[in-house]
Amino acid sequence: MPETAQEVLQLIQEKGIQLVDLKFIDMPGIWQHLTLHVSQIDENSFVEGVPFDGSSIRGWKAINESDMTMVPDPTTAWIDPFMKEPTLSMICTIYEPRTNTPYERCPRAIAQKAVDCLKASGIGDTAYFGPEAEFFIFDDVRFDQAENKSYYYVDSIEGRWNSGREEEGGNLGYKPRYKEGYFPVAPTDTSQDMRSEMLLTMADCGVPIEKHHHEVATGGQCELGFRFGKLIEAADWLMTYKYVIKNVGRRYGKTITFMPKLLFNDNGSGMHTHQSIWNDGQPLFAGDQYAGLSQMALWYIGGILKHAPALLALTNPTTNSYKRLVPGFEAPVNLAYSQGNRSASVRIPLSGTNPKAKRLEFRCPDATSNPYLAFAAMLCAGIDGIKNQIDLGEPLDVDIYDLSPEELAKIPSTPGSLKDALKALEADHDFLTVGGVFTEDFIQNWIEYKLDNEVIPISLRPHPYEFALYYDC
Ligand code: GLU
Ligand code: MG
Ligand code: MG
Repeated sequence: MPETAQEVLQLIQEKGIQLVDLKFIDMPGIWQHLTLHVSQIDENSFVEGVPFDGSSIRGWKAINESDMTMVPDPTTAWIDPFMKEPTLSMICTIYEPRTNTPYERCPRAIAQKAVDCLKASGIGDTAYFGPEAEFFIFDDVRFDQAENKSYYYVDSIEGRWNSGREEEGGNLGYKPRYKEGYFPVAPTDTSQDMRSEMLLTMADCGVPIEKHHHEVATGGQCELGFRFGKLIEAADWLMTYKYVIKNVGRRYGKTITFMPKLLFNDNGSGMHTHQSIWNDGQPLFAGDQYAGLSQMALWYIGGILKHAPALLALTNPTTNSYKRLVPGFEAPVNLAYSQGNRSASVRIPLSGTNPKAKRLEFRCPDATSNPYLAFAAMLCAGIDGIKNQIDLGEPLDVDIYDLSPEELAKIPSTPGSLKDALKALEADHDFLTVGGVFTEDFIQNWIEYKLDNEVIPISLRPHPYEFALYYDC
């Protein structure tokens, strides 16, 4: 993979590239793109950037100040496997053309500021992130609005295999039983070949691939794995991961969704995020404290748990996110930490004796988050925890789902809704702005955008289940 602008231009020559596709992330977390003929790209494009109209991008500029530039990062170049003509893809950061400085609402620029903030803090020089984004594969999602039933593999009201329903194409048999999708072999597993193609295509796009498997939910829930990376490269890989998975899915006539809670009463899709801090090539999270962690790692977890209600406004930023964070489906509900315990929101995975593998896994995030913002915010919370030596309290080494209501009442919970998380963010965001990573403008714009475009419009619409409950009142 190229490292410099010159190497990209050389690759263009060598591979007979005709077109260059510039991709960048918008505020809610979707890739946008612009395709240029190669004649429009030279070394200067990597310095001054390529101009575009920023006024039509969600949550960004007004029409009267719309000129912006996108500056491609040469280290993100790969040949786009989904385009018919030879096309080189690159990921960009957005700049203000007048000052040639990174745009303060560009998520990739915010992620860079988080990386700089870590270095300036003297704590370490590198933060590693390893996201595990789960997703569903659907042929075609058809919801019966009145009954709120999904005509897929499971009865979404009872949450169990419904053998009585007539299936298109006849009963194909060998269906994963309820909560047993993780992970029987074929012919029960029907998406093996598709997942293999997804994984190998990701490798062609520079993502260091590791594995793939079916997930717990009854039909079509899957996960692919790639190696952890530095904050920005891990976010870039996650975006490539989603792009490749969705586009390979399309080749098979499928649609892919990362929506956190698709089916009532079955497992949702999370994006557990593994994280650790290093300095000068040495891992800083291994030590002789609880679960083989260092004191620094425990303080980092303290920061994550303390700020979790506000943090979730960025790591779980949709109204649907909070339908996943309910008991019984391996998703966290309580703000606690534990070694190996999947019901706690911070888990310390068993990692053998190698200190380089010592890390924590924050289990709350989901893949509706913008990874640049989510990773930056988690790092800010961790830095705050280390700087202020935030004490965690005792670990919770029991299955939280089995606790009595009295015991549970003592453990703080994740917010119950996006609205609650946004309120928490309004009240607690100094940890994000203090190092200059997020601006006050960004936080206020985020809260307003989420309320006006998601929380309020959804609260105004009748829900399908309201028909089942109230139609005959
Ligand atoms: N699907 C579960 C979640 O929503 C996680 C299952 C797992 O541990 O991989 O977080
Ligand atoms: Mg998983
Ligand atoms: Mg996990």
